[in-house]
Amino acid sequence: SSDTPRVLSIQSHVVHGYVGNKSAVFPLQVLGFEVDFINTVQFSTHTAYKHIKGQSLKNEELDDLIDGLTMNEVDYYTHFLTGYSRSPDSLKKIVEILKKLREKNPNLNYVCDPVMGDNGKMYVPEDILPVYRDIVVPLADVITPNQFEAELITGMKMNSLQDALKIIEALHEKGPKTVVLSSTELGDEYCMIGIASTAGVQYQINIPKVDATFTGTGDLFASLFLAWWHKTNNNLKLTLENTISTLQIIVKDTYQKARDVQPTGKIPPQLRELRIIQNKNIIENPKITINAIEL
Ligand code: ATP
Ligand code: PLP
Ligand code: MG
Ligand code: MG
Repeated sequence: SSDTPRVLSIQSHVVHGYVGNKSAVFPLQVLGFEVDFINTVQFSTHTAYKHIKGQSLKNEELDDLIDGLTMNEVDYYTHFLTGYSRSPDSLKKIVEILKKLREKNPNLNYVCDPVMGDNGKMYVPEDILPVYRDIVVPLADVITPNQFEAELITGMKMNSLQDALKIIEALHEKGPKTVVLSSTELGDEYCMIGIASTAGVQYQINIPKVDATFTGTGDLFASLFLAWWHKTNNNLKLTLENTISTLQIIVKDTYQKARDVQPTGKIPPQLRELRIIQNKNIIENPKITINAIEL
Protein backbone atom coordinates (compact mmCIF):
# COMPACT_ATOMS: atom_id res chain seq x y z
CA SER A 1 0.00 0.00 0.00
CA SER A 2 1.04 3.63 -0.27
CA ASP A 3 0.74 4.14 3.48
CA THR A 4 3.86 5.18 5.36
CA PRO A 5 5.76 2.06 6.44
CA ARG A 6 6.13 1.76 10.22
CA VAL A 7 9.17 0.18 11.84
CA LEU A 8 9.72 -0.89 15.42
CA SER A 9 13.49 -0.96 16.00
CA ILE A 10 14.83 -2.51 19.20
CA GLN A 11 18.56 -1.76 19.49
CA SER A 12 21.27 -0.03 21.53
CA HIS A 13 21.49 3.71 22.07
CA VAL A 14 24.71 5.63 22.51
CA VAL A 15 24.86 9.23 23.71
CA HIS A 16 27.86 9.96 21.51
CA GLY A 17 28.43 8.32 18.17
CA TYR A 18 26.67 5.90 15.85
CA VAL A 19 25.81 2.27 16.60
CA GLY A 20 22.48 0.51 17.07
CA ASN A 21 19.49 2.84 16.89
CA LYS A 22 21.79 5.87 16.45
CA SER A 23 23.01 4.22 13.25
CA ALA A 24 19.64 2.88 12.04
CA VAL A 25 16.94 5.40 12.93
CA PHE A 26 18.07 8.51 11.02
CA PRO A 27 18.55 6.68 7.68
CA LEU A 28 15.14 5.02 8.03
CA GLN A 29 13.49 8.34 8.81
CA VAL A 30 15.23 10.09 5.93
CA LEU A 31 14.00 7.31 3.64
CA GLY A 32 10.41 7.96 4.67
CA PHE A 33 9.83 5.43 7.42
CA GLU A 34 7.92 6.17 10.59
CA VAL A 35 10.31 4.76 13.21
CA ASP A 36 9.37 3.81 16.77
CA PHE A 37 12.48 2.78 18.67
CA ILE A 38 13.26 1.16 21.97
CA ASN A 39 16.76 1.47 23.38
CA THR A 40 17.97 -1.78 24.96
CA VAL A 41 20.92 0.03 26.50
CA GLN A 42 21.97 3.63 26.92
CA PHE A 43 25.75 3.85 26.95
CA SER A 44 27.87 6.99 26.68
CA THR A 45 29.69 5.45 23.68
CA HIS A 46 30.01 2.13 21.91
CA THR A 47 32.24 -0.57 23.32
CA ALA A 48 35.38 0.11 21.26
CA TYR A 49 36.07 3.12 23.53
CA LYS A 50 38.23 2.75 26.62
CA HIS A 51 35.50 3.43 29.20
CA ILE A 52 32.08 1.86 29.02
CA LYS A 53 29.41 3.56 31.14
CA GLY A 54 25.65 3.43 31.13
CA GLN A 55 22.48 1.46 31.76
CA SER A 56 20.70 -1.56 30.35
CA LEU A 57 16.93 -1.88 30.02
CA LYS A 58 15.55 -4.70 32.18
CA ASN A 59 13.19 -7.21 30.61
CA GLU A 60 10.32 -5.96 32.82
CA GLU A 61 10.99 -2.41 31.64
CA LEU A 62 10.90 -3.54 28.01
CA ASP A 63 7.59 -5.32 28.78
CA ASP A 64 6.20 -2.08 30.23
CA LEU A 65 7.03 -0.12 27.10
CA ILE A 66 5.39 -2.73 24.87
CA ASP A 67 2.34 -2.88 27.18
CA GLY A 68 1.97 0.87 26.84
CA LEU A 69 2.00 0.64 23.06
CA THR A 70 -0.50 -2.24 23.08
CA MET A 71 -2.88 -0.62 25.57
CA ASN A 72 -2.96 2.56 23.50
CA GLU A 73 -3.39 0.52 20.33
CA VAL A 74 -0.36 2.05 18.64
CA ASP A 75 1.35 -1.30 18.14
CA TYR A 76 0.67 -1.77 14.41
CA TYR A 77 3.96 -2.08 12.49
CA THR A 78 4.88 -3.10 8.95
CA HIS A 79 8.49 -3.85 9.94
CA PHE A 80 10.39 -5.10 12.97
CA LEU A 81 14.17 -4.64 13.21
CA THR A 82 16.45 -6.09 15.87
CA GLY A 83 20.20 -6.14 16.41
CA TYR A 84 22.67 -6.60 19.25
CA SER A 85 21.18 -8.52 22.22
CA ARG A 86 23.25 -9.34 25.31
CA SER A 87 21.42 -12.28 26.89
CA PRO A 88 19.31 -15.30 25.95
CA ASP A 89 16.50 -13.89 28.12
CA SER A 90 16.39 -10.56 26.30
CA LEU A 91 16.38 -12.44 22.99
CA LYS A 92 13.46 -14.60 24.16
CA LYS A 93 11.67 -11.38 25.06
CA ILE A 94 12.19 -10.19 21.47
CA VAL A 95 10.46 -13.37 20.30
CA GLU A 96 7.45 -12.69 22.55
CA ILE A 97 7.22 -9.18 21.16
CA LEU A 98 7.51 -10.43 17.58
CA LYS A 99 4.62 -12.85 18.15
CA LYS A 100 2.45 -10.02 19.55
CA LEU A 101 3.26 -7.77 16.62
CA ARG A 102 2.38 -10.55 14.17
CA GLU A 103 -1.00 -11.00 15.85
CA LYS A 104 -1.66 -7.35 15.05
CA ASN A 105 -0.16 -7.58 11.54
CA PRO A 106 0.30 -11.09 10.11
CA ASN A 107 2.29 -9.56 7.23
CA LEU A 108 4.85 -7.94 9.53
CA ASN A 109 8.31 -8.09 7.96
CA TYR A 110 10.95 -9.10 10.51
CA VAL A 111 14.54 -8.15 9.66
CA CYS A 112 16.89 -9.86 12.10
CA ASP A 113 20.59 -9.05 12.35
CA PRO A 114 21.83 -12.02 14.40
CA VAL A 115 24.70 -10.11 16.00
CA MET A 116 27.08 -12.52 17.70
CA GLY A 117 30.60 -11.73 16.59
CA ASP A 118 33.03 -11.13 13.77
CA ASN A 119 36.35 -12.39 12.43
CA GLY A 120 36.16 -15.70 14.29
CA LYS A 121 35.31 -14.23 17.71
CA MET A 122 32.02 -14.11 19.61
CA TYR A 123 31.36 -10.87 21.46
CA VAL A 124 28.09 -11.97 23.07
CA PRO A 125 27.72 -14.84 25.60
CA GLU A 126 27.85 -18.22 23.88
CA ASP A 127 24.44 -19.33 25.13
CA ILE A 128 22.85 -16.80 22.76
CA LEU A 129 23.73 -18.99 19.77
CA PRO A 130 21.12 -21.74 20.31
CA VAL A 131 18.42 -19.10 20.84
CA TYR A 132 19.21 -17.43 17.50
CA ARG A 133 19.68 -20.75 15.73
CA ASP A 134 16.62 -22.60 16.99
CA ILE A 135 14.10 -19.88 17.88
CA VAL A 136 14.78 -16.44 16.39
CA VAL A 137 16.19 -17.14 12.91
CA PRO A 138 13.31 -19.53 12.03
CA LEU A 139 10.85 -16.66 12.66
CA ALA A 140 12.69 -14.03 10.58
CA ASP A 141 11.81 -12.93 7.06
CA VAL A 142 15.22 -11.43 6.36
CA ILE A 143 18.49 -12.22 8.15
CA THR A 144 21.74 -10.27 7.75
CA PRO A 145 24.55 -12.31 9.34
CA ASN A 146 28.21 -11.73 8.55
CA GLN A 147 30.33 -14.74 7.56
CA PHE A 148 31.18 -15.75 11.12
CA GLU A 149 27.56 -15.52 12.26
CA ALA A 150 26.36 -17.58 9.27
CA GLU A 151 28.96 -20.21 10.15
CA LEU A 152 27.87 -20.26 13.81
CA ILE A 153 24.17 -20.63 12.95
CA THR A 154 24.71 -23.47 10.47
CA GLY A 155 27.75 -25.12 12.04
CA MET A 156 29.34 -25.07 8.57
CA LYS A 157 32.63 -23.53 7.41
CA MET A 158 32.92 -21.05 4.54
CA ASN A 159 36.13 -21.34 2.52
CA SER A 160 34.73 -20.83 -0.97
CA LEU A 161 31.81 -19.31 -2.85
CA GLN A 162 30.40 -22.83 -3.13
CA ASP A 163 30.50 -23.19 0.67
CA ALA A 164 28.77 -19.83 0.96
CA LEU A 165 25.93 -20.97 -1.29
CA LYS A 166 25.54 -24.18 0.74
CA ILE A 167 25.43 -22.17 3.95
CA ILE A 168 22.83 -19.83 2.44
CA GLU A 169 20.74 -22.88 1.45
CA ALA A 170 21.01 -24.22 5.02
CA LEU A 171 19.93 -20.83 6.37
CA HIS A 172 16.88 -20.75 4.05
CA GLU A 173 15.95 -24.23 5.31
CA LYS A 174 15.73 -22.82 8.81
CA GLY A 175 12.99 -20.41 7.65
CA PRO A 176 14.08 -17.01 6.32
CA LYS A 177 13.01 -16.35 2.71
CA THR A 178 15.75 -13.77 2.30
CA VAL A 179 19.32 -14.37 3.43
CA VAL A 180 21.96 -11.66 3.19
CA LEU A 181 25.62 -12.17 4.06
CA SER A 182 26.57 -8.56 4.79
CA SER A 183 30.26 -9.34 4.45
CA THR A 184 32.47 -12.38 3.86
CA GLU A 185 36.22 -12.85 3.68
CA LEU A 186 35.97 -14.64 0.33
CA GLY A 187 37.47 -11.67 -1.50
CA ASP A 188 41.07 -10.50 -1.23
CA GLU A 189 42.92 -7.78 0.66
CA TYR A 190 41.17 -5.10 -1.41
CA CYS A 191 37.64 -6.45 -1.48
CA MET A 192 35.08 -8.19 0.66
CA ILE A 193 32.17 -10.06 -0.85
CA GLY A 194 28.52 -9.65 0.07
CA ILE A 195 25.99 -12.26 -1.06
CA ALA A 196 22.21 -12.12 -0.97
CA SER A 197 19.62 -14.75 -1.79
CA THR A 198 15.86 -14.84 -2.21
CA ALA A 199 13.37 -16.97 -4.15
CA GLY A 200 16.07 -19.10 -5.76
CA VAL A 201 18.12 -16.13 -7.02
CA GLN A 202 21.55 -15.14 -5.65
CA TYR A 203 23.59 -11.98 -6.13
CA GLN A 204 27.18 -11.25 -5.29
CA ILE A 205 28.47 -7.76 -4.65
CA ASN A 206 32.16 -6.86 -4.40
CA ILE A 207 32.81 -4.30 -1.71
CA PRO A 208 36.08 -2.33 -1.90
CA LYS A 209 37.77 -2.50 1.52
CA VAL A 210 38.61 0.68 3.38
CA ASP A 211 41.68 0.28 5.59
CA ALA A 212 40.05 0.70 9.02
CA THR A 213 37.58 -1.04 11.32
CA PHE A 214 34.20 0.62 11.68
CA THR A 215 31.54 0.21 14.32
CA GLY A 216 27.88 0.61 13.55
CA THR A 217 28.24 -0.33 9.88
CA GLY A 218 26.44 -3.65 10.47
CA ASP A 219 23.52 -1.81 12.05
CA LEU A 220 23.52 0.72 9.21
CA PHE A 221 23.60 -2.13 6.69
CA ALA A 222 20.53 -3.82 8.22
CA SER A 223 18.50 -0.59 8.30
CA LEU A 224 19.39 0.37 4.72
CA PHE A 225 18.61 -3.14 3.52
CA LEU A 226 15.22 -3.04 5.25
CA ALA A 227 14.46 0.35 3.70
CA TRP A 228 15.48 -0.49 0.12
CA TRP A 229 13.89 -3.94 0.24
CA HIS A 230 10.60 -2.17 0.89
CA LYS A 231 11.16 0.79 -1.44
CA THR A 232 12.17 -1.37 -4.42
CA ASN A 233 9.26 -3.75 -3.88
CA ASN A 234 11.62 -6.60 -2.99
CA ASN A 235 14.07 -6.13 -5.88
CA LEU A 236 17.17 -7.84 -4.47
CA LYS A 237 19.69 -6.47 -7.00
CA LEU A 238 18.61 -2.85 -6.49
CA THR A 239 18.39 -3.30 -2.73
CA LEU A 240 21.97 -4.58 -2.53
CA GLU A 241 23.28 -1.90 -4.87
CA ASN A 242 21.61 0.98 -3.02
CA THR A 243 22.64 -0.40 0.38
CA ILE A 244 26.29 -1.02 -0.50
CA SER A 245 26.71 2.18 -2.53
CA THR A 246 25.44 4.23 0.42
CA LEU A 247 27.71 2.41 2.87
CA GLN A 248 30.75 2.87 0.61
CA ILE A 249 30.32 6.62 0.50
CA ILE A 250 29.79 6.91 4.25
CA VAL A 251 32.71 4.64 5.12
CA LYS A 252 35.10 6.34 2.66
CA ASP A 253 34.08 9.82 3.76
CA THR A 254 34.53 8.82 7.42
CA TYR A 255 37.97 7.41 6.65
CA GLN A 256 39.13 10.43 4.64
CA LYS A 257 38.02 12.93 7.29
CA ALA A 258 39.81 10.85 9.95
CA ARG A 259 42.98 10.80 7.85
CA ASP A 260 42.81 14.59 7.44
CA VAL A 261 43.14 14.79 11.22
CA GLN A 262 45.47 11.86 11.69
CA PRO A 263 47.46 11.01 8.54
CA THR A 264 49.05 7.76 9.78
CA GLY A 265 48.65 5.04 12.41
CA LYS A 266 45.61 3.44 13.99
CA ILE A 267 42.59 5.73 13.98
CA PRO A 268 41.01 6.14 17.44
CA PRO A 269 37.29 5.33 17.84
CA GLN A 270 36.16 8.96 18.11
CA LEU A 271 37.58 9.68 14.64
CA ARG A 272 35.90 6.60 13.19
CA GLU A 273 32.33 7.57 14.06
CA LEU A 274 30.25 7.17 10.91
CA ARG A 275 29.46 10.40 9.03
CA ILE A 276 25.79 9.57 8.66
CA ILE A 277 24.27 13.03 9.13
CA GLN A 278 26.76 14.68 6.74
CA ASN A 279 25.73 12.20 4.04
CA LYS A 280 21.98 12.70 4.33
CA ASN A 281 21.65 13.50 0.61
CA ILE A 282 23.46 10.28 -0.34
CA ILE A 283 21.21 8.23 1.93
CA GLU A 284 18.13 9.77 0.30
CA ASN A 285 19.45 9.50 -3.21
CA PRO A 286 22.33 7.06 -3.56
CA LYS A 287 24.28 7.02 -6.81
CA ILE A 288 24.80 3.36 -7.61
CA THR A 289 28.57 2.97 -7.89
CA ILE A 290 28.80 -0.82 -7.42
CA ASN A 291 26.79 -3.41 -9.34
CA ALA A 292 25.52 -6.72 -7.99
CA ILE A 293 26.20 -9.75 -10.17
CA GLU A 294 23.72 -12.62 -10.49
CA LEU A 295 25.27 -15.97 -9.55
P1 ATP B 1 26.61 -7.91 11.56
O1 ATP B 1 25.93 -6.63 11.90
O2 ATP B 1 25.73 -8.92 10.91
O3 ATP B 1 27.41 -8.42 12.73
P2 ATP B 1 29.01 -6.87 10.61
O4 ATP B 1 28.90 -6.08 11.86
O5 ATP B 1 30.15 -7.81 10.51
O6 ATP B 1 27.64 -7.59 10.39
P3 ATP B 1 30.31 -5.03 8.98
O7 ATP B 1 31.54 -5.86 8.97
O8 ATP B 1 30.29 -3.79 9.76
O9 ATP B 1 29.04 -5.91 9.40
O10 ATP B 1 29.92 -4.74 7.48
C1 ATP B 1 28.68 -4.20 7.12
C2 ATP B 1 28.87 -3.42 5.85
O11 ATP B 1 29.63 -2.26 6.15
C3 ATP B 1 29.66 -4.14 4.75
O12 ATP B 1 28.78 -4.82 3.88
C4 ATP B 1 30.37 -3.00 4.05
O13 ATP B 1 29.52 -2.46 3.07
C5 ATP B 1 30.55 -1.95 5.13
N1 ATP B 1 31.91 -1.96 5.70
C6 ATP B 1 32.24 -2.26 6.97
N2 ATP B 1 33.56 -2.17 7.18
C7 ATP B 1 34.10 -1.79 5.99
C8 ATP B 1 35.44 -1.54 5.53
N3 ATP B 1 36.51 -1.65 6.33
N4 ATP B 1 35.60 -1.18 4.23
C9 ATP B 1 34.56 -1.08 3.41
N5 ATP B 1 33.28 -1.31 3.78
C10 ATP B 1 33.04 -1.66 5.05
N1 PLP C 1 25.71 -1.73 19.97
C1 PLP C 1 26.72 -1.41 20.80
C2 PLP C 1 26.41 -0.83 22.14
C3 PLP C 1 28.01 -1.61 20.39
O1 PLP C 1 29.00 -1.29 21.25
C4 PLP C 1 28.27 -2.15 19.10
C5 PLP C 1 29.65 -2.38 18.70
O2 PLP C 1 30.59 -2.05 19.40
C6 PLP C 1 27.21 -2.48 18.26
C7 PLP C 1 25.94 -2.25 18.74
C8 PLP C 1 27.33 -3.09 16.89
O3 PLP C 1 28.12 -2.47 15.92
P1 PLP C 1 28.22 -3.03 14.41
O4 PLP C 1 27.09 -2.43 13.62
O5 PLP C 1 29.55 -2.57 13.91
O6 PLP C 1 28.10 -4.53 14.40
MG1 MG D 1 32.15 -7.36 10.12
MG1 MG E 1 27.44 -6.13 13.61
